[in-house]
Amino acid sequence: MLEINGKSVYNALAMGRLHFLNRDGCTVKRFRVEITRPEILRFESARAQAKKDLHILYEKALTEVGEANAQIFQIHLMMLDDEDYFGAITSAITNQKVNAEYAVSYTSDIFARTFSEMDDEYMQARASDVKDIANRLIAILTGNDSCNSELSEPSIIVADDLTPSETVQMDKEKILGFVTFGGSPTSHTAILARTMNIPAVIGTGSIDCSFHGETAILDGFSGTLYINPDEQKIADYKKRKELEDTRLELLSRLRGQPDETRSGKKIKLYANIGNPSDIGLVIRNDAGGIGLFRSEFLYLESNTFPSEEEQFLKYKEVAENMLGKPVIVRTLDIGADKKIDYFNLPEEENPALGYRAIRICLTDKALFKTQLRALLRASVFGNISIMFPMIISEKEITNALEILEEAKSELRSDGIPFKEDMEIGIMIETPAAAIISDTLAPYVNFFSIGTNDLTQYTLAIDRQNPHLEQFFDPHHPAILRLIETVVQNAHRYGKWVGICGELGADQALTETFINMGVDELSVSPSFVLPLREKIRNIS
Ligand code: PEP
Ligand code: MG
Repeated sequence: MLEINGKSVYNALAMGRLHFLNRDGCTVKRFRVEITRPEILRFESARAQAKKDLHILYEKALTEVGEANAQIFQIHLMMLDDEDYFGAITSAITNQKVNAEYAVSYTSDIFARTFSEMDDEYMQARASDVKDIANRLIAILTGNDSCNSELSEPSIIVADDLTPSETVQMDKEKILGFVTFGGSPTSHTAILARTMNIPAVIGTGSIDCSFHGETAILDGFSGTLYINPDEQKIADYKKRKELEDTRLELLSRLRGQPDETRSGKKIKLYANIGNPSDIGLVIRNDAGGIGLFRSEFLYLESNTFPSEEEQFLKYKEVAENMLGKPVIVRTLDIGADKKIDYFNLPEEENPALGYRAIRICLTDKALFKTQLRALLRASVFGNISIMFPMIISEKEITNALEILEEAKSELRSDGIPFKEDMEIGIMIETPAAAIISDTLAPYVNFFSIGTNDLTQYTLAIDRQNPHLEQFFDPHHPAILRLIETVVQNAHRYGKWVGICGELGADQALTETFINMGVDELSVSPSFVLPLREKIRNIS
């Protein structure tokens, strides 16, 4: 049994097979072999299998994406027939007396390095093709299908890190947990794990991908991954899992109970979602509404800009399923770590401080208006509010409201119905917005404090950077003071204020937030009932 420690970002337990997402840097085990002939035969048969797979992929790509895009598989096929390449692999097996997968990995590293050091750009690009072929051969040799293949069974995902676009493309039904070598607690992988109610452990450091397919227990309470657990560990796990299920069963009895302290102070408890498919979780956990619908996930899941009609159907679905309960949709918050190829956003030195969120929407009016029209149209099917992200000034709000007015008048003249009195809010997630929240309050109906970004911008700590953990203090007095200022300023103008960042679920602060007068907390669906329990135990 191998024990690997990291940092837990969601307390839950899972047991299943490890599924490594294919990454550079995966190490392959080296064995000494006395008789090399069987290793050469293994390599030859893996090469034949890889060629067969590539032919099939080529044919499939040809019909689905055309000749130009299918070419890549032809190039890979040619490389597998390259005598220098496969000759070097068989020599490595014979001369070094090593196993076939190690010989593939060792030789391919040398070839890839040689290509990447060439002057010719075309030849440099061949380096990644060599790595790709090597991964394919190693996957066949180790019996791991392909690390990139679809999940064949529910598995614990292991990766160096996951981008939001990778996580949205996974089949959620088949994910038992996440382990990332790097990562940070407010990364979107962590947020996804909380939404899905599955364990996630980050910052484990590199794990050898030859463990792909091995059985493991992921303990999200202690932040530990046990690979090939012994019988005692498995028995322990089963006992704890039973207790955990009982605890969740007890928590479910809080469904339908009011969110108020023993002395009767009330606070609204809503849930954060990224997709209409999360509504089941919202309902199961009995949230009073949706306090943050991260609409950019609709864009992340798509291969092209989602049309007004596509978006309208999604917003309508959420509004209808929430049966009149509030649904706060945040307009597109793309940029920073949330990158989408088809947006063709420029490479930036500091993307978190760059062209993102409302900045993109105010620049690309047509893109923004498509979303606003979809939201307005969906408004008649439930209780939708619109919220603008990353605001720093009054001007940004007035510009956004102007575009909203244009969208409304277009719909009016087309005779398309929408709710005239929809609530409009902004995210307070920049220190600028928090500091001038008194001047921003008159323009909107509500504020929602995004503590993930507010913390990164106030403390000047990149929320994606795991190496800054020792400096990261989510309870920093500067954050708490800003939150208090925002609450006071909102209330001065009769506006309500919520918290939708991860800090909203921090039970060490629940009482503080209630005493500050925070009106709403919006948290991952799986945190709703534990937080309700906490609120109801406050005197
Ligand atoms: C936040 O910044 O706190 C927030 C809720 O938005 P996101 O995490 O999507 O940036
Ligand atoms: Mg944010």
